[in-house]
Amino acid sequence: MVLFKLAWSKRYPDVSWKIIRKLSVCYDNMIHRCYTKTNKDYSSYGGSGIDICKEWKIDRHIFISWGLQNGFTLGLEIDRINNKFGYNPNNCRFVNSKEQRRNERRNKINWEEKTKICPRCGQIKSWECFTWDKKKNIPRSHCKKCRVEVEKIRKNIY
Ligand SMILES: [Zn+2]
Repeated sequence: MVLFKLAWSKRYPDVSWKIIRKLSVCYDNMIHRCYTKTNKDYSSYGGSGIDICKEWKIDRHIFISWGLQNGFTLGLEIDRINNKFGYNPNNCRFVNSKEQRRNERRNKINWEEKTKICPRCGQIKSWECFTWDKKKNIPRSHCKKCRVEVEKIRKNIY
């Protein structure tokens, strides 16, 4: 991890090092979700076509600077405003995890029309295309078709 404490404290003298390190961890997690095929969340991110904008992808420091200028603080997580689109300054914000879950559900499940957006194929499909999560009483994450593919990735058939 190339992060120079001195350089950062000069640029952002009022920001604690802990916050900068957290943003750096947030960056690593985002990179792994999108580009590390063995990551447990890969199928819902990189495997579903979720990308990171070029600027952030090539430079951790640009992302951290953006985070500091856009309200990041301890306890917050990065959130994509529209789940159909990837990680970029126009589609991201920081929210607490409760807000994030609410946003995820709102974006993906349409209760009135009984449809849901599958995170892998990105298609809006009727609830019948999903297996049902009886515990949470909502359709499961991926559509039945994508579920087969996701299972394959999990079992490393590819
Ligand atoms: Zn799907």
